[in-house]
Amino acid sequence: MKINIERLFKDLDRIVAITKTPGKGCTRFSFSSEDRQAREYLLTLMNELDLCIKVDGFGNIRATYGKNINLPPILIGSHIDTVANGGKYDGLLGVLAALETIRVLKEENAELTRPVELIIFSEEEGSNFGVTMMGSKVMTGKYSLADLKSIKNNEGKSCYDIVKNFGLGVDHIEQETIRKDEIEAMIELHIEQGAVLETENKTIGIVQAIAGMKTFKVTLEGDSNHAGTTPMDLRSDPIVGAASIIAPLQSTVKSGALPTTVATVGKISCEPNLPNVIPQKVEFFVDARDVEMKGIDFVTDYLVEKVSEVAKEHSLTSHIELVGQSQIKPLSPHIMNVLEQEAIAAGFNYKKMNSGAVHDAGLMTDVTDVGMIFIPSLKGKSHCPDEFSKVEDIEAGCQLMLKAVASLAVKKHVIQEK
Ligand SMILES: [Zn+2]
Repeated sequence: MKINIERLFKDLDRIVAITKTPGKGCTRFSFSSEDRQAREYLLTLMNELDLCIKVDGFGNIRATYGKNINLPPILIGSHIDTVANGGKYDGLLGVLAALETIRVLKEENAELTRPVELIIFSEEEGSNFGVTMMGSKVMTGKYSLADLKSIKNNEGKSCYDIVKNFGLGVDHIEQETIRKDEIEAMIELHIEQGAVLETENKTIGIVQAIAGMKTFKVTLEGDSNHAGTTPMDLRSDPIVGAASIIAPLQSTVKSGALPTTVATVGKISCEPNLPNVIPQKVEFFVDARDVEMKGIDFVTDYLVEKVSEVAKEHSLTSHIELVGQSQIKPLSPHIMNVLEQEAIAAGFNYKKMNSGAVHDAGLMTDVTDVGMIFIPSLKGKSHCPDEFSKVEDIEAGCQLMLKAVASLAVKKHVIQEK
C-alpha cells in the first residue's frame, strides 16, 4: 500500500489558497469564512469516500471509515486553523495525511479489523481567544458551557456566541465529550516546528512525550527616581535586578538542569519606561518546559532563590506568580513501538524525540493511547510564511501513518499480500 503524494498536494494547494492574507501566508482562523470554505472542501472529499461524518457542537469533525464495525476506532488527524500569516503545513498536513490514509485503505479494499476515523480539531492555535487546543479541550470535557461564555476575543465577543453564530450546536458540548473506552488509539502527524530532525538529518520523529510547562510572572518593584541626580549607591533599581536574574538563566539551565529542559524570558515590561528615569517596576515572564518534572522544578527553584537574593541585594520588593501550566504528556509505548517497527520496515531514518510544542494529541492522552509522527521543518521555522517541509519527508511521514494504521486496523494477511 502506498500513499499518493500528488493527490495529497492537490488538496493541500487548494486549501492553502483559502487564506485571508493572499501572498502573506495562511490566515485561516476557526469559525471564519476561510474556515467554512476549507471545511466545505474537506467535507466534499469525505462524502466522496462515503465516510460517516459527525460534527460536534464546537465544530470538531469526526469522519469514520468502516462504520459498520462495532469497535472503538483508530483516530487520525490534526487541525486546519492557523495563526495569522502562518505556514502551509502546520495542522493541515496531519489532516491530509489522515484523509490520504483512508483513501488508500478504501482503494485497496483493505479488510478492516476496526474503524479508522479522521478527526479535525477546531481552534487549535488559539488565534481567536488566546486559548490553544480548545477543540480537544472541549472534546475531553475540560470546558463547560459557562467557560465558553466567559472566554472572549479581542472585540469582547464570547466564544459561545461566535461558535453559535457559525451555525454549530454549541449548547450540546457537555453531552458530547469523548469517553475513555470510545477510542482505541490516536495518531497525529505534524511538522516538527523545530530544527532537531533537520540538524540530525532524520526523516521521521517518533514522539515519546509532549513537554509540560510552567509560566511565571515575576514582578520587581524599586524606587523610581531621577537618572541624573541619584548616585549609583543610593538606587533601588528593578531593571538591574531583572537583568541579574535573567542573564544567568541560560547558562544555569544548560549546566544544572536536564538536557531536555528549556527556559525562556520572552516578555518584559518596565514602568515608567522612560530614558531618563530609574524604573519603578519591572515585570517579566519565565516559560519553563520539560518532559520531566525535575527539569521544570529546577527552573522554579532557581527563580525562587535568585529572585529573593536579588531583591535583598537591590532593596526591591518581589513577587513570583504562577500564571499558567500544562501537564507533561507521555505518549503510548505501544503506539510508539508500532511506529518504530513500521519505520524500521520502511527503512526510514528516524529519531525518538520529545515535543516542546503542545498539540491536540496531548489532550487526547487523557482518553486513549496516543502516538505522534514528526517530519522535519526547514530551519525549524513554523507559524510564518517561510514554514517548509520537503516533499520526500512529507511522503515518508504519510507513508508511516498509513503503515501504522494498517498495522492497528487491517487484517494481517491482507497487509502481507499488499
Ligand atoms: Zn499545529
